[in-house]
Amino acid sequence: MKSLKQSDPAVAEVLRRETERQAGTLELIASENFVSAAVLEAMGSMMTNKYAEGYPGARYYGGCEFVDEAENLARERARKLFRCEYANVQPHSGSQANMAAYMVFIKPGDTVLGMDLAHGGHLTHGSPVNFSGQLYRFVSYGVQKETGTIDYDLALRLALEHKPRLIVTGASAYPRFIDFARFREIADRVGAFLMADIAHPAGLVATGLHPDPLPLCDIVTTTTHKTLRGPRGGMILLGKDRENPMGLKAAKSGRVKKLSEIIDGSVMPGMQGGPLMHVIAAKAVALGENLEPEYRSYCEQIIRNAKAMAERLTEHGYVLVSGGTDNHLLLLDLTDRGLTGKAATAALDRAGITVNKNMVPFDTQSPAITSGIRVGTPAVTTRGMKEPEMRRIADLIHRALSAVADESVHRAVRAESAELCGAFPLPGGCRP
Ligand SMILES: *Cc1c(COP(=O)(O)O)cnc(C)c1O
Repeated sequence: MKSLKQSDPAVAEVLRRETERQAGTLELIASENFVSAAVLEAMGSMMTNKYAEGYPGARYYGGCEFVDEAENLARERARKLFRCEYANVQPHSGSQANMAAYMVFIKPGDTVLGMDLAHGGHLTHGSPVNFSGQLYRFVSYGVQKETGTIDYDLALRLALEHKPRLIVTGASAYPRFIDFARFREIADRVGAFLMADIAHPAGLVATGLHPDPLPLCDIVTTTTHKTLRGPRGGMILLGKDRENPMGLKAAKSGRVKKLSEIIDGSVMPGMQGGPLMHVIAAKAVALGENLEPEYRSYCEQIIRNAKAMAERLTEHGYVLVSGGTDNHLLLLDLTDRGLTGKAATAALDRAGITVNKNMVPFDTQSPAITSGIRVGTPAVTTRGMKEPEMRRIADLIHRALSAVADESVHRAVRAESAELCGAFPLPGGCRP
């Protein structure tokens, strides 16, 4: 068999350079991580060849006996990990998990309450450029200006005023715990369904280090590639399954459908065709890793690392939205340093430190410029870095951002970033 290098040197070379980039730079994008060699192997497996529309034991195609086993393993492990009754592991991404969840509870034109993108929410929580904002009537809550934490009173007021059919909680750039019990009360006051999108803190939820939405929400969605450290993809979870309690859809032949059956149908055929069985096999592998005691220690270290980074950046005079962090990420407001998120991201890129520009609450800059950056610790924690390295990275960030126009400083910092990376290799012995 020819290697990729022989059959397609052009693509092989870009893969090599991307591996080199990942190995040699400090990855602080809060939504990224490094999967294990086992996860990579499952993803690059023969299961990519298989069509398997349907669910284990009920497929539209023959030859599904082994993919069925892979999907069953993924579902069982997801249920065990999240201590829940139901998991659908087929959504191709977090956005598609959300689309399928919406299709269960709301119809086009229905009113939904979600978190403002500029305050930390996600595109799929009602942004006008996303299907969510185009199909549904989203009303947005956000954070309080003084505290940077979710304004639950505002959420209640908006709920009472707009009577949403669904309330969406969860965020992409929110450094604090989310009080799902508080949202449950709000939902109950107005008779709304409650959804939690835990794409970001899912690993912390699974290991008991973040409040657990599963007992409180009507549906929970997540990605599998952020803190969960699996392949790119989505999942839908239910704490408890129930028999169509809300009369969502008239069941054919009078049989009352379970919520889980409605969700399965919403994912496929509702929103997707064939599942990505190689990715589902890799989800099973990652979820197996998540059940090991080392994974909990890893999640504890993610949080300790975020706190260490927050402390050091605060010592350097940086303003953190909400003043710190409870989870795996920090949001830096660079306004008082006269820096934009765009300029900071470019300087850090030159310094071998990868972050993303991010709107801060009440931002006066556009989404393409922004006043902030988001900094996350899951990926560097996977490399084995701990608090001393976080303090050193914070110092490197400070050096690069104190001289955004001085490329010689960036080159010097880049050499130090590369040295740090050299001491903490990628998992699975991935080398360029
Ligand atoms: C990342 C994220 C998603 C979507 O994930 P994709 O896999 O990129 O579609 C959904 N919701 C939230 C809150 C996220 O942070």
